[in-house]
Amino acid sequence: MDIYPVSNGFSTAYLVVDGGSAMLVDASSESIAPKVLAKLAEARAELRLIVLTHYHFDHVGAAGPLREATGAPVAIHRLDADPLRRGGALRLHPNRPLGHVMAPIFSRGVKAPVTPDLEFGDEEDLGGHGGFGRSFWTPGHTAGSQSVRLPDGTVLAGDALSAGFPPSRAERPMFADDVAASRASIVAIADAAGRDVRIAHFGTVGAPSVARLAARNRPAG
Ligand SMILES: [Zn+2]
Ligand SMILES: [Zn+2]
Repeated sequence: MDIYPVSNGFSTAYLVVDGGSAMLVDASSESIAPKVLAKLAEARAELRLIVLTHYHFDHVGAAGPLREATGAPVAIHRLDADPLRRGGALRLHPNRPLGHVMAPIFSRGVKAPVTPDLEFGDEEDLGGHGGFGRSFWTPGHTAGSQSVRLPDGTVLAGDALSAGFPPSRAERPMFADDVAASRASIVAIADAAGRDVRIAHFGTVGAPSVARLAARNRPAG
């Protein structure tokens, strides 16, 4: 299994290829669609599933164009399905000091509506939908945020974690609609991670760093 990060310089999607099949986790902006199609052609793989970790505009832009080009269905957790369909501007709740700086910038992005094909429950066997591994519900950043655990133990966590300094250091998400839920999700991600955790901004955080962050967020007792 190979994992190819595909980025627009700001938000990274992950193309997972195994044999002739591929799954895309997150869809960044529309500008990455040609890069994904080129990688699929190079790998001689067919895109079978597009999993969105949540509905924010910087994670869903290429979903529509890639569905049209490949026929792959677009999946999102059921609790983020309505905001995905609605589109519009974001209302963000800063959860780190940097979030207060970034919120006005992010809030300018307006998302085009996307109609999902599949609404996932809290845990899904992605093999049953044409993908690999399993999805699991990791709410907090948004109500319907979900992560993907690949068969090799890699977790793709979207925005459920953010990068600190250095960028390999895991931090709590930049924004959280529900802080308590986000803390529980950090623990769930650490417990699921068999190796590194890939995030959307900007790359890879080490499993030990995620474990340390989880230790600080585990309920006492
Ligand atoms: Zn987000
Ligand atoms: Zn994001």
